[in-house]
Amino acid sequence: MVPTRPSHSFRELPLRGAVNPSTFAQGTNPGAFANRPDVGGPLAYSSPDTPGMPPVSDKTAWDFLPTGWRRSEETGFAIAPAGFVPVTQLEHARLGKITPEMRRVAAREGHLSAEAVRDEVASGRMIIPANRVHLGHTLDAMAIGRASRTKINANLGASPVSSGTEQEVEKMRFAVRWGADTVMDLSTGGDLDACRSAIVRASTVPVGTVPIYSMIIGRKIEDLTDKVILDGVRHQAEQGVDYFTIHAGVRRGHLQFVEKRLIGIVSRGGSLLAKWMLVHGRENPMYALFDEICDIMREYDVSFSLGDGLRPGGLGDATDRAQLAELETLAELTERAWRKGCQVMVEGPGHIPFDQIEFNMKLQRQLCHGAPFYVLGPLVTDAFPGYDHITSCIGATAAAYHGASMLCYVTPKEHVGLPKADDVKQGCIAYKIAAHSADVALGIPGSRDWDDDITKARAALNWEKQFELAFDGDTARALHDEDLDVDTDFCGMCGHDWCSVRISKEIAEFASGKAEGFTRERVMKSPALTEDQQKILEQRGVLSPEEIHKLASKTRKAVGAEEGSKASCHSDVADDTIAIQVQRERLVQLRTKAPHKEAE
Ligand code: SF4
Repeated sequence: MVPTRPSHSFRELPLRGAVNPSTFAQGTNPGAFANRPDVGGPLAYSSPDTPGMPPVSDKTAWDFLPTGWRRSEETGFAIAPAGFVPVTQLEHARLGKITPEMRRVAAREGHLSAEAVRDEVASGRMIIPANRVHLGHTLDAMAIGRASRTKINANLGASPVSSGTEQEVEKMRFAVRWGADTVMDLSTGGDLDACRSAIVRASTVPVGTVPIYSMIIGRKIEDLTDKVILDGVRHQAEQGVDYFTIHAGVRRGHLQFVEKRLIGIVSRGGSLLAKWMLVHGRENPMYALFDEICDIMREYDVSFSLGDGLRPGGLGDATDRAQLAELETLAELTERAWRKGCQVMVEGPGHIPFDQIEFNMKLQRQLCHGAPFYVLGPLVTDAFPGYDHITSCIGATAAAYHGASMLCYVTPKEHVGLPKADDVKQGCIAYKIAAHSADVALGIPGSRDWDDDITKARAALNWEKQFELAFDGDTARALHDEDLDVDTDFCGMCGHDWCSVRISKEIAEFASGKAEGFTRERVMKSPALTEDQQKILEQRGVLSPEEIHKLASKTRKAVGAEEGSKASCHSDVADDTIAIQVQRERLVQLRTKAPHKEAE
């Protein structure tokens, strides 16, 4: 007799996290393969190390206090020289003070107390980018750091060939609507000053800039002087910008490593400063002036985003000597900025093969002592221009899982043009997917509750609830109604007879999956499409304008669900023959041929 395997041998996930860290009643992902949550330590929400990865640093921002400061053995907090007045969030945290911004961050994160936020900021592992001027407008404080949820940034900005201030402010609002946690104004054309000011005043999220862009408007890069740099930094700090990308890590000695690259220097700031160094035969002025720049940024609490001017621009250049030499300098600058009381995050690449992402994240975590890593993508392949929001959000998910705290979005227009409104939406959504997926995998409390709620609505075939919970409910509703414009207990994907969810519900013992309190007594009229939903279908180009109009203007009568009556396509009340007939009639007939017909 042939031996058979036991049919119910259960294997359980190895719960490295060991405890479910959820603060919510329904629970969340215990971070099955992630490390045990270590808020207050270097492994807060972290992935286990693949063999060979750089270990965490044994230092934090506490090891880089300003001259004259010491740490109280009694309280653990810092003691500043007499008469010192704290300005930055880092200085307040070091002194043990909880600011209103720290309280706000704790309220928004849900799983962190104000004390935990303060301690993470004091350790340098978290920043609250909040210029004091911007706080006087409409800024809603948020935090970037691995103990908090993963954040995403959307880049905006007029170019010399396209767009203007009004469009960019509108784009900013659009990006925030689609989930951007911060925005960067990267304008290189139009009225840069007016555009920056308008975005800061209107934005509820932190605004970042690359100050060198405005410094070379009307002058050649080689004419950049120390005065122009320091005046430019001060002017933008006064305007309320919350974080600056400063490309101080590109040193003269690094340029030799760029020669053999496939695509050289792809950072605008990096390439401009490299040219300046070659023309003048001197060190990068951003590096030379770093301490003075720190002093200005501290006055307004502008956070550093230490720029990666030598990031790779293609997979072939990833993790090369130029990139890693610059990272060593960024680590040195992190320590120097901390000694000046400034908040710091570090920027990272770019284009990295999938297998090198973990090493890049963990090397930065080690060298920069846990300072938040803010990465662009990274793209994991270069072969799909037009789809780089997808190639990069795959890398971004891995980057966040392995340690990145903020993901800079990439839109479908990357490498080929300036993003328009819909590109901004596509980029934001791709990156919200990356950030949320990483948070679920890391076991950040409450993250998976959202997924579980949608699963319950889906299991109950509660379409309204599913679309209400969806990140982009308009698109989900429009795509649903494109095929079947009633909310019944199946959809256009499989149809009535093959709907496994409906069949599961019919199995008497099947007890799970019912959304609490939801029972479908009859077919629901799908609400008429909104204008946004109509536009989504128009862009798909599958239905004719008449068909979309029909979906948008239908009535209860048209779908057979008049007041008091039950529409006959609902299987709970109709026999199979009628249900199949109604399904056939009510499914919107596409104008395109079915795939198998095309092959004929
Ligand atoms: S018809 Fe198919 S896709 Fe639609 S709800 Fe049922 S199982 Fe899901």
